[in-house]
Amino acid sequence: MLQRQLPLWLAASKEQCLQGKVASYIPELSKAPQEALGIHIIDREGRSVTAGDCGLTFTMQSISKVFTLLLALMDNGEDVVFDKVGMEPTGDNFNSMLKLELVQPGIPFNPLINAGAIAISSLIAGGSSGEKSERTLQFFRKLARNDSLDYDMAVYRSEAESADLNRSMAYFLKDNGVLKGKVDDVLDVYFRHCSIGVTCADLARMALVLAYNGTDPITGVNLVPRRYVQIAKTFMVTCGMYNASGEFAIEVGLPAKSGVAGGILTMVPGRYGIGVVGPSLNPKGNSIAGVHLLETLSKEMDWSLF
Ligand code: GLU
Repeated sequence: MLQRQLPLWLAASKEQCLQGKVASYIPELSKAPQEALGIHIIDREGRSVTAGDCGLTFTMQSISKVFTLLLALMDNGEDVVFDKVGMEPTGDNFNSMLKLELVQPGIPFNPLINAGAIAISSLIAGGSSGEKSERTLQFFRKLARNDSLDYDMAVYRSEAESADLNRSMAYFLKDNGVLKGKVDDVLDVYFRHCSIGVTCADLARMALVLAYNGTDPITGVNLVPRRYVQIAKTFMVTCGMYNASGEFAIEVGLPAKSGVAGGILTMVPGRYGIGVVGPSLNPKGNSIAGVHLLETLSKEMDWSLF
């Protein structure tokens, strides 16, 4: 049924693309095709179903935050990590500074907003920012089972040149004792992991490991402790889709993380890893056609966890 229906559901969702906008606050991202939409679904045997523009390479952006959180947890343990970031959704934009000072002084609300992810970047083990980035890239490659994952240097440079807001957040965190190390070094780690280029197939494979609680079901190798995957998936439900996470939980009901380049990584726990791309975004910053397609899929396939 999935194989047969997927191209039809995708075609119906594609109409949404023209209603949204490609991100432009990082100038390089504005070059992405507004009308693209692709999906890749993979199961535990490695069998996959795909439809649409699956060949498109795009940058992970915020999707990478799920995996740097896992690496930071593996490097430091829960106590150290949750001393520097909270566990609650904000209801604000991903790059908002509002609550940094208001409620929980100095500590970002959660690891999936920019401030929280920047704090997480500083917790990744390594003697230099280069070493931290290299460890991060290797970890991502292992999860995606793709040794050729790499940075999109044009997006990396574009983000680094237009990141005044992220810089101001990082200095604020540094002043509050949340960031270890030099601000520029921490930001370099952050910009690099956001600019790792992937396809829907890479996201689907990474998601499959989360769907199987940290063990790659195809190789049988455990890559992440189950407890840390549980933490990451919970954050994906409560704040993975920006401040539309509540609506996504109601309409789709799966753990997911989106990025401003139009990617969505999601999964049906114990069954499938899923990667979606659709660079045209809705006003909340999520792929407009990607969300529409996942709503259709979840309803038709009865995938909601709730
Ligand atoms: N690199 C992006 C930024 O810091 C990530 C944002 C996102 O995908 O939500 O603004």
